[in-house]
Amino acid sequence: MAKLVDGFGRRIEYLRLSVTDRCDLRCSYCMPADHRNLSEPDHWLTFGETEQIVRVFAGMGLHHLRITGGEPLVRRNVTGLIHRLHDIPGIDDLSLSTNATRLGKMAGELKQAGISRINVSLDTLNPDTFRQITKGKLEKVLAGLQAAKKAGLSPIKINMVVMEGVNVDEIDQLVEFCGNNDFTLRMIETMPQGNTGRSASRSYVSLQKIEKNLVKKYDMIPAVTRGGGPARYLQMRNSKTTVGFITPMSQHFCETCNRVRLSVEGTLYLCLGQDDKVELRPLIRAGISDDDLQQVLIKAIASKPERHDFNEQPGKIVRFMSMTGG
Ligand code: SAM
Ligand code: SF4
Repeated sequence: MAKLVDGFGRRIEYLRLSVTDRCDLRCSYCMPADHRNLSEPDHWLTFGETEQIVRVFAGMGLHHLRITGGEPLVRRNVTGLIHRLHDIPGIDDLSLSTNATRLGKMAGELKQAGISRINVSLDTLNPDTFRQITKGKLEKVLAGLQAAKKAGLSPIKINMVVMEGVNVDEIDQLVEFCGNNDFTLRMIETMPQGNTGRSASRSYVSLQKIEKNLVKKYDMIPAVTRGGGPARYLQMRNSKTTVGFITPMSQHFCETCNRVRLSVEGTLYLCLGQDDKVELRPLIRAGISDDDLQQVLIKAIASKPERHDFNEQPGKIVRFMSMTGG
């Protein structure tokens, strides 16, 4: 079997698939406030086109697929797409990143379609702060989380972007909320992705000090978690409560990167923090064979950049996180 190994010896096994660049929320660090949700344009990959790309990737050892966006659950019939992707031989780990606003209605059908585990964005437990960050309603997200638990989606990880003057004072509350609900909390440093991310970076908090404080306060020790990815995990010594830290800014983890991203328009992004990309849509629409697509993907992976330059060149990446598939 042809293998996907980049120029730095990293094996690529994980695709983050963005199925829309739209969202029903407007998180201050992610989606521009004036972003319009129009009907589905022709330049979006169809389900069949998406399936071909994932199938060819999976034929070369890629086995983890995460459905993301924008908000993936606003894509029409996303459950139908997930069913199709779940049936692709080789895909043994199908996960979802969501803001949870639609999980109240969809958790059961997503589980049935093959989603095993989910990551949910939740930065605050205060309804006013939630509205300030996202322009949405906290109660929907909390209901969505309970529905996900009931449907048996597990583990459920909560992604909290930590921001000075916004939610940094809520960390203990989120640690306890997650501990009580059997969720895993993961704190994330803001990245200067698009002008929304750059504005939010003014509230940037390095997680190094927060980690030290939590270790002391909750007597935490290093832990390993399934599908941990770039997060470093700590566990309370006398309980199952686990907390993760994703520190792209203060301590980057590029040397262990095993992923690439596919946008809804069919652009394969080789690094979140670089512009290196390959346009797959024109090739697919010209009827490229699976064998030829395999060669294109091998060549693309070989050119994956070594690391991001978020610290050195914070103004470099103009695309929003919702476009790349965060
Ligand atoms: N809508 C889904 C959600 O919110 O989970 C999936 C897409 S969202 C772009 C994926 C993740 O990117 C979320 O956890 C969000 O917090 C994170 N994110 C977006 N913009 C960010 C930024 N500028 N810095 C750090 N994380 C960011
Ligand atoms: Fe939407 Fe997720 Fe971006 Fe928030 S982080 S605006 S929920 S895509």
